[in-house]
Amino acid sequence: MLTTQQGTSEIMSDNRIKSIVIVGGGTAGWMAAAALAERFISNRYMQITLVESREIGTIGVGEATVPHMREFLKRLRIAEVDFIKRTSATFKLAIGFDGWAGKDSHFFHPFSEHGVPLLGTAFQHYWVKLRRLGRAAPIDRYVLSSEMARAGKFALPRQGQGSGFLFFNYAFHFDATLVARYLKSWSMTAGVKHVEGTIANVRLNAETGFVEALELNEGGRIEGDLFIDCSGFRGVLIEQALATGYESWGQWLPCDRAVAMPCESRMPPSSYTKSIASSGGWQWRIPLQHRVGNGYVYCSRYSSDDEAAQTLRSTVEGPALAEPRVLPFTTGIRKKIWNKNVFCLGLASGFLEPLESTSIYLVQKGLAALIGSFPQAIPNPALQEDVNRRTRAHWEHIRDFIILHYKLNRREGEPFWDECRHMAIPDSLAETIELFRATGRVRAEASEFFKASSWLSMFAGFGILPDYYHPSVDDANEDEIAHELESMGSGIARAVADAPTHQAFVQANCAMPESRARAIAGS
Ligand SMILES: Cc1cc2nc3c(=O)[nH]c(=O)nc-3n(C[C@H](O)[C@H](O)[C@H](O)COP(=O)(O)OP(=O)(O)OC[C@H]3O[C@@H](n4cnc5c(N)ncnc54)[C@H](O)[C@@H]3O)c2cc1C
Repeated sequence: MLTTQQGTSEIMSDNRIKSIVIVGGGTAGWMAAAALAERFISNRYMQITLVESREIGTIGVGEATVPHMREFLKRLRIAEVDFIKRTSATFKLAIGFDGWAGKDSHFFHPFSEHGVPLLGTAFQHYWVKLRRLGRAAPIDRYVLSSEMARAGKFALPRQGQGSGFLFFNYAFHFDATLVARYLKSWSMTAGVKHVEGTIANVRLNAETGFVEALELNEGGRIEGDLFIDCSGFRGVLIEQALATGYESWGQWLPCDRAVAMPCESRMPPSSYTKSIASSGGWQWRIPLQHRVGNGYVYCSRYSSDDEAAQTLRSTVEGPALAEPRVLPFTTGIRKKIWNKNVFCLGLASGFLEPLESTSIYLVQKGLAALIGSFPQAIPNPALQEDVNRRTRAHWEHIRDFIILHYKLNRREGEPFWDECRHMAIPDSLAETIELFRATGRVRAEASEFFKASSWLSMFAGFGILPDYYHPSVDDANEDEIAHELESMGSGIARAVADAPTHQAFVQANCAMPESRARAIAGS
């Protein structure tokens, strides 16, 4: 029989990890606290402490997610409806790209597959042939979630309809500060100890160089066996104390600043994240229940902070709720995610701009790697090395997908975009592009997170069709295939017509109480 009980003498005498200290109370810190508390809930000897500085505060941005967030909530047995109500969340079916493939262009990157296979061959092959012949609509039209997003609608995927073109997935837009607060309450109920204080000094073991204790400005000392650095861009443990090093990817992702400014909602909330290309970068627009999050990601060589703030101010859809706030960043990755007895997550581990809303997902992925490879004791160099290698590979796949957006842009005549189109790209991405053009396929490694359908959305959105489609398509009657595609399109149009508006769906099922929304907007 399995048991989690341990004899006290056994615990005292071994060198197992018995104390985890998390530094930082932003999204990453409280996600780590919740996930670790859930993992060790039945473990009598593990102590989890989170220390955060009220003085320093959190970054407070990070509002669009990917569907994996739903798995995170499920793991913690958090009901989605409760989470949505308390974090002012809305639903996200896709990302809409405006102006990336030319000034008036628009396409979606949805969280679902395109169409359904015909006669055992993937939809893509039929679509490529018919698109070349001018007999198929843009690929978005064969995706229910893209069409619902276009129409400002939302409905949950219905049980029993989890296949074919009616299948789709969704994510959330939420208020990052409220999410941290929600997870804080969850974690503290699960036994996580919370300490408020600013770390003034990190004590390292003279022999091993391991972190032994944190000394606080306010006085007091926190000891631990394993430290999780979620201290944001500062990297208080991983960089300031351990000098792990950072690898910049700025040669491929030239944007190095963002300016953020929330505004009042004046339009019904869209059920997708808007990504709008602009002359020196791109803007995000993320609708929450009580406000809209706006930001402009730009390259400081092409736009000053004042110009960027002005661009943002002049394009938001409602009265500003705060002054524009500039956030400088260096895109890249920490050289080791796990160094000695410090594991870093969130902004302390690296930064990829929020074009595909992947940062919070990467926190989740990092936690899965840590929990899945939790050491019996540290050091365990082989284990740490393996986790570092895998994590880095995962970051690189996502990095390549983001670079693709810049590389394929079609905004000719604008210096920033011309530079991006002509820049050198990583070999891994060059191979992916070449393979797709020739075969319509995506390298297995490249599709670890962004699946083939995601790459197809981007290539098709930028007007790139592969040279290849499967020969079996030529065996089928062309008119019949065209008819199949039309009925798929009309089936989707009917499902969209039946769905409520996104606003009506939120109001009916998971609206944040108005008094709470007003209090939050006021603060
Ligand atoms: C412009 C921008 C837009 C973004 N948009 C998205 C998005 O749409 N989707 C997405 O998934 N992600 C997005 N992100 C990323 C997202 O914001 C972060 O991944 C996420 O919020 C995690 O932040 P964090 O917890 O690592 O850091 P922070 O929020 O910065 O928290 C750091 C914590 O460390 C504490 N701390 C720091 N120093 C000390 C010290 N000396 N002593 C004690 N405590 C200390 C602070 O008090 C704070 O609690 C965006 C990021 C930026 C910059």
